[in-house]
Amino acid sequence: MKNTFHINTKVLGVIGHPIKHTYSPFIHNITIEFKNLDYVYLPFDVPTSNLRTALKGMVALGIKGFNVTLPHKENIIQYMNNVSEEASIIGSVNTVVNELGKLSGYNTDVYGILETLMPHKEDIMGGEVSIVGAGGAARAVIYTMIRYFKPSRIYLVNRTEQRAESLKNYFKDKMKYDSFKTKELFPPDLVDVFKKSKLIVNATSVGMFPDSDDTITTLADSFSKGQVVFDLVYNPPQTHLLKLAASKGAIALDGLKMLVHQAAKSFELWTGEEMPTERIYKSLQLFIKD
Ligand code: NAP
Repeated sequence: MKNTFHINTKVLGVIGHPIKHTYSPFIHNITIEFKNLDYVYLPFDVPTSNLRTALKGMVALGIKGFNVTLPHKENIIQYMNNVSEEASIIGSVNTVVNELGKLSGYNTDVYGILETLMPHKEDIMGGEVSIVGAGGAARAVIYTMIRYFKPSRIYLVNRTEQRAESLKNYFKDKMKYDSFKTKELFPPDLVDVFKKSKLIVNATSVGMFPDSDDTITTLADSFSKGQVVFDLVYNPPQTHLLKLAASKGAIALDGLKMLVHQAAKSFELWTGEEMPTERIYKSLQLFIKD
């Protein structure tokens, strides 16, 4: 990364708490370097109690834009001057653009999910879909499914079924979609649900480094040829779950592509520039291995 900054250097960043595990500074700073742009991207550790003050500071300092990560994605919406349609429906903002002191909130996870799934649209369209997990990431997956893939049914599967129920009611209300069924994660009949799903998404943190050998055992018995399996976990890029899916002939899609493409959309919103996504994907794979 260059180390000569001056008054015209534009500042981008990410706010969250804690913030040390994010790959966003790596992704954006190597993009800035590849494209020889006069920007820098910095991580800012902002506890919840400081969110409002931090946003005032961002505006006062003329920070051009920033990503938002846990725990601020939902809470930040109240401080936005504008919110995009998808961020408003999902109820979560991961990208903020500062235009002359007016803050606009977006959810670019949707673009990361679309870039990953669209090449397999024919395999997924109109079929049954299983989504495991009921957190923030699952919300973006549900929105993308209903909006772009018209599933005949969505199974919402979660360790805590009550959380899946709340999500079902939320999207029934927001998107007028009615074909949900919720399930707890462990009963054996889940294998049948997963087997008939055209798409299975892992939107939990199960399988994430350092617990990379963990997997959802009911899922492991369910994969078949032609099925699409998408694991949102990106570290390691090839999770245990994806290796199992590929060994059964399923189409195994990793979370790293989503990570790069959601970042690419944020970068475009801030700078108007395209991110060289293939190049960044390869650099990130090497960076995560080290
Ligand atoms: P979150 O809001 O904290 O939700 C976590 C989800 O995982 C909940 O449904 C939770 O179930 C479930 N879970 C956690 N530990 C579990 C376990 N041991 N067994 C079964 N279920 C478990 O997190 P999030 O923001 O939705 O993120 C979920 C995953 O997506 C993370 O791995 C994150 O890194 C990944 N992600 C990837 C991208 C990308 O660009 N690739 C973007 C966003 C997120 P309970 O409700 O029962 O607690």
